[in-house]
Amino acid sequence: MSRTILEARNVTKRFGGLVAVSDVSFDVTEHEVMGIIGPNGSGKSTMINMISGSFAPSSGSIRLRGAELAGKPAHKVARLGVGRTFQLVRLLPELSVIENVMAGAAFGHRRRWGHEAEHFARSLLERLGLGQATGMPVSALTYIDTKRVELARALAGDPKVLLLDEWLAGLNPTELSTGIALIRSLREEGRTIILVEHVMDAIRSLCDRCVVMSSGAKIAEGTPAEVLSDREVIRAYLGD
Ligand code: ADP
Ligand code: MG
Repeated sequence: MSRTILEARNVTKRFGGLVAVSDVSFDVTEHEVMGIIGPNGSGKSTMINMISGSFAPSSGSIRLRGAELAGKPAHKVARLGVGRTFQLVRLLPELSVIENVMAGAAFGHRRRWGHEAEHFARSLLERLGLGQATGMPVSALTYIDTKRVELARALAGDPKVLLLDEWLAGLNPTELSTGIALIRSLREEGRTIILVEHVMDAIRSLCDRCVVMSSGAKIAEGTPAEVLSDREVIRAYLGD
C-alpha cells in the first residue's frame, strides 16, 4: 500500500495585496512523481518555497509524514527530509563542485561528514556525469553543469521528498533527454519527487499525477493525460 508522505492543506501565501497561492490543497504519495504545472506567475515556485521553508505560508498547513513544516526555517525543513533545487541556481560560487555537494550532505536529512560525505558526493557527481569536475570551482561551470551540481547537492541530503523547480528549463534537446532519463532513474529507485515543469514531454513521461495552478489557485488535478485535456487547463494556458 502506498502512503501519503506530504499533505498540503488550504495553503495560502499573500505578498502584500497579492495572493500568490490561494487555498491550495493536495497530497503526495510516497514514491510518486507529482507535477505542478501552470502558466508563468501562477504560484508554482511560491508553493515550492513554502514546502521547503523559504517562505512561511500566510495560512494553511504542510505536513511531511504528519510533521508540520509550515513556518519552520529552511534548514529545519531540510533536516526533516525535504531537498530542493532552485529555479535560479543557487550555489556557493567560491567553493568547488564537490564542496558544494558535501555541504548538502552535511545539512540534509541523513547527515554525512568528512570521508563519508566526500565519498557519497563523489558517487553522486559521477552518476550525474560530473566525475571529472569535482575539484573545479563552481564559477567555472557551464549552466547545465551548475544545475547538475544543484541536483547532486539536493540528493546528498537523502531527501524523503525532492523538489525540482524547472530543473529542465534552458537545456538543449540533447541535455533535455539526458535530464529526463536522469529524473526517470530517480523515480525508478523509488524517490518521491515534486516536479515544477514547463516541458510537456517531461510532464507526460515522468509524472504520475499533476496539480495545475492558475492565478494562485489549483484548477485541476489528475494524470497528465487527464489534466492536459481539461478545458479549464487549456483555457488557462491559452489565456482565454
Ligand atoms: P510561477 O513559479 O508559477 O511562475 P511564482 O510563484 O514565482 O509563479 O509567482 C507567483 C506570483 O507571486 C507572481 O505574481 C509573483 O510576482 C509573486 N511573487 C513571487 N515571489 C514574490 C515575492 N518574494 N514577493 C512578492 N511577490 C512575489
Ligand atoms: Mg517559478
